[in-house]
Amino acid sequence: MILVLNPDTRPDSAEYKQLMAHLANLPGISTRVHTEVGVEQTLTEVYLIGNTKPLPIEEMQNLPCVEQVVRISEEYRVLGRHKDDHRPTHFDYNGVRFGQDTLNVFAGLCAVDTLEHVELMMQALRDNGQVCTRMGAYKPRTSPYSFQGHGKACLPYVFDLAGKYGIKVIAMEITHESHVEEICEALYRTGNSTGVMLQIGTRNTQNFELLKIVGRQQDFPVLLKRGFGITLDESLNAAEYLASEGNRKVVFGLRGMKTNMADPHRNFVDFAHVPVVKRLTRMPVCIDPSHSVGLRASSPDGILDIMHVTTQGVIAGANMILVDFHPVPGKALVDGPQAMLIRELPFFLEDVRIAREAYERRA
Ligand code: PEP
Repeated sequence: MILVLNPDTRPDSAEYKQLMAHLANLPGISTRVHTEVGVEQTLTEVYLIGNTKPLPIEEMQNLPCVEQVVRISEEYRVLGRHKDDHRPTHFDYNGVRFGQDTLNVFAGLCAVDTLEHVELMMQALRDNGQVCTRMGAYKPRTSPYSFQGHGKACLPYVFDLAGKYGIKVIAMEITHESHVEEICEALYRTGNSTGVMLQIGTRNTQNFELLKIVGRQQDFPVLLKRGFGITLDESLNAAEYLASEGNRKVVFGLRGMKTNMADPHRNFVDFAHVPVVKRLTRMPVCIDPSHSVGLRASSPDGILDIMHVTTQGVIAGANMILVDFHPVPGKALVDGPQAMLIRELPFFLEDVRIAREAYERRA
């Protein structure tokens, strides 16, 4: 059972203490309290775990601080959609809303290579009215001999430029807990208002210890990518690891599945699962057309496959698009062949807008 608390419930309030005292007296029950990410000391939900017999809803509803009572099923306890569950399907972070009813584009560099390329990218985003981007500093690579990303060395100029060009949220993959500290420190030192969405990539979807650590931090929302070789249920449970530790600001990312080597695309595009994830959970759903398709192939109509699958994902109701662009793809140190050109950005955004309008007309 989840007790959704009144907004602005604070741990030092008499009502909250009264609520917790009451819960402590319920036999066989333990509680886990969730706070609001980025808003210190604001409590949002109390999870009642381990009850042997059902608790009376009306009695719980009348307890101090309680706004709503939700009876949860076993599946995806925190992030799932449960019967009569009116909890929100969105969250706000650094002035941007992420929800099952919004759409945000994160166009940017797969990997940060030079300051000049970062600046050209961010300038193009600003010129096209964009406030979000993707910038890879820590790159998990198949070969140990491939470029592994500039790591913390590039963070100061990435965050400085983001501030200069009005970027509010940067999706940035992390592969180790130390990266979270490095990002925090660099943001603090830079002192501008840019925010970061921590990205957990497909290779780490089931790195449970990393998920627990990232789930415990309350500073950043998280984009969790689906594991490329595991079931959807396993990946949704991975997201639940983040949420069960306290961070419920989670976006779920679809990025294609591995099938076999003869596939024309790098991965088999799985954007048909956008509505499935939205039906099963309250998470906004991201699509990554670049890592799904993996190359600049185009159909006889001259339209890039990346563009085709993006619009398919948007029509299916996607809420976020993570997409690789690069000022000079030939010079990109990671995944250049799948990057779109900066001059293609306005057309990309226009097609996304048209597809989104079509989705909204029908939804
Ligand atoms: C990425 O987005 O840079 C990336 C490596 O993605 P994935 O984890 O989906 O391969």
